[in-house]
Amino acid sequence: MVTVRDQSDTFIECLTIGARGDRTGVFTVASILKGAVIVKMQGDLLASPNEYSIQIDTHKHLGKGGLIDDEMNHSCDANAKIEFTDLTIRAKRQITPGEEVCINYCATEDNLANIFRCDCGSAHCYGIVTGCQYLSREQRDSIKDELSPYLKRKYYVKESPNSGGDVNDDEGEPQQGDQAEHQ
Ligand SMILES: [Zn+2]
Repeated sequence: MVTVRDQSDTFIECLTIGARGDRTGVFTVASILKGAVIVKMQGDLLASPNEYSIQIDTHKHLGKGGLIDDEMNHSCDANAKIEFTDLTIRAKRQITPGEEVCINYCATEDNLANIFRCDCGSAHCYGIVTGCQYLSREQRDSIKDELSPYLKRKYYVKESPNSGGDVNDDEGEPQQGDQAEHQ
């Protein structure tokens, strides 16, 4: 059962579904200041991911909430991000009327259920979006602040010396790979 959250102090009423090319996205009709709460997310907590879920923790995925943010597209240079302390979507910078509101899917998904070719138009577009684990260190560092606690732990918190592994090795990661689709 989805817990319905009060959206009265958010920008949800300013959001509208619009077209970007041959698909839909979420656009704002009002100016949204940096840091403002755009939507309070809601949804069931699931033990395993699905096409629409957002990974919160190791075995914790937030399912579809039935609100407009379910339709938010990915951008490699997103203007919004998820704040995990209160499960809200907030503006990363000022968003102007008519702009599409996007989040970065790689900030929550280590391994996307649906890989896709990105057309966000950013100078730093990933090309093919596959998930956080496939980002280069530089790409991951650029979204470090918006990574889910789960991914922050995985990539940025040093494990204790007696745990055997060190996931924060500056020498680079084996799965870094060439970004062959980079444009
Ligand atoms: Zn992109």
